[in-house]
Amino acid sequence: MASIFSRIITGEIPCYKVAESETCFAFLDINPLAKGHVLVVPKIEVDYIFDLEEETYIEFQLFAKNIAIALKKAIPCERIGVTVIGLEVPHTHIHLIPINGVNDMNFTNKKIHFTKEEFEEIASSIASFL
Ligand code: 5GP
Repeated sequence: MASIFSRIITGEIPCYKVAESETCFAFLDINPLAKGHVLVVPKIEVDYIFDLEEETYIEFQLFAKNIAIALKKAIPCERIGVTVIGLEVPHTHIHLIPINGVNDMNFTNKKIHFTKEEFEEIASSIASFL
C-alpha cells in the first residue's frame, strides 16, 4: 500500500503544499514543532534515506536546501534546523524547522496548532520566496 506521503504527493490526501519538482515534494508538517515546520520528501517511495540512489539523494538534498533558504526568509529565526527521523512514516523525509535554540528541535515538545487559514498563509509565504 502507498505510504501516506505518496498519497499526499498524488493529491489523494490534502496537504499544505510548499513546492514540487519532478522528483521531490515539500509540504507543511500537520503537527508542527514550530511555525514553518516543513517536510521534504522524494517522490519515489523509499523508506530509509540512505537507501536512496545517489542521484536521487543529491537532487533531494539540493531541493531541501532551496526550501530551507526560502523558509528562513519567510519565518524569522536564527537557523533552519534539519533532521531525519522516519520512525513514524516509512517514506524518506527531511524535517526543516525554524529554530532559535537547540530545544526547538526537541520532538517531545508540545506541537503547535494552526488554523487552516494560518497553515495556508505559512505555506504560501514560504513558496513566495522560492
Ligand atoms: P517521523 O517519521 O520523521 O518520525 O515523523 C513523521 C512526521 O510526519 C511527523 O512530524 C508527523 O506530524 C508528520 N505527518 C504524519 N502524517 C502526516 C500527514 O498526513 N500530513 C502531514 N502534513 N504530516 C504528517
